[in-house]
Amino acid sequence: MHLNIFVSQSCFLHCKGCYSFSREEEKGQKILTDVLVDFLRFAYDEGVRKVTLCGGDPLTRCDISELLEKIKEIGFYISMDTVGSSIIKEVTIGKNLTVKQINAKKIVKLVDMIGIPIDGSTNEIFKRFRQTRADLINEQLTICQELNKYGANICINTVAHKGNLEDAYELAKLIKSMVISKWQIFQYEPLGKFGLKNRDIFEITDKQFSDFQSTVLEVFDDDISKLQFKASRNRKNAYMLVDNSGNAWIPSYENMSTSKFSYIFNDSVIIGNIANLEDWNKICSYLDRKLI
Ligand code: SF4
Repeated sequence: MHLNIFVSQSCFLHCKGCYSFSREEEKGQKILTDVLVDFLRFAYDEGVRKVTLCGGDPLTRCDISELLEKIKEIGFYISMDTVGSSIIKEVTIGKNLTVKQINAKKIVKLVDMIGIPIDGSTNEIFKRFRQTRADLINEQLTICQELNKYGANICINTVAHKGNLEDAYELAKLIKSMVISKWQIFQYEPLGKFGLKNRDIFEITDKQFSDFQSTVLEVFDDDISKLQFKASRNRKNAYMLVDNSGNAWIPSYENMSTSKFSYIFNDSVIIGNIANLEDWNKICSYLDRKLI
């Protein structure tokens, strides 16, 4: 089971189908850097070698560079899922948060795989899921070009949903033309507050996902070396989340009860909290010990 850690609640986008559970949490929650680093040092000693930082968007965390340096120093293979906006410009989020432009070269040096979302070949299609006023498609391409200058490993993350099914062919052509290491395509899942609330707008059947996959394969001439298709049925119990409150748990639509548009977190869901030393063994007992 793979370890995914929320390191921020804020994000550059406000996706209609946001599947992040960070939106479930009380505003302002954040795992302290020292707590997180101490836990990761323990996990590394236990044989865990890979961690994914997510959020919200990790780049909106004010000390993200220092945090990445400390995690890298331990020895981890780091993946980071980010919209990436601050790689090319300073960004103001809401009334109170300004995220300064970040040094792309530094990020590339510290992060082994940078996950960038692209869900449509045009802004119109892209923004059916990801809400922003920005020229999103061109921004994402510019971010990837900037990262490529420093030899980044880029993983494009695409959510296949009702709003982009007809775009599979054009999107595949676009991604094929890019310099990337990996393209992951996820079947939409009703996870997180907004993912659950807007499931009728986005959810697709297994058959629709399989058709999306066939179209992509056609464009890639069946070369699957860079492709990963993540059907919902294959993602059950595949990863553990540690949220901004430090709680570790395994998301599963089937196993978690919901109240209207929200998940119910209780002791039957939460495995432990990384702020509690006595929970570390139990949390780590679920995690992969495979070398990269
Ligand atoms: S889905 Fe991802 S990019 Fe979109 S708002 Fe949620 S955390 Fe941000």
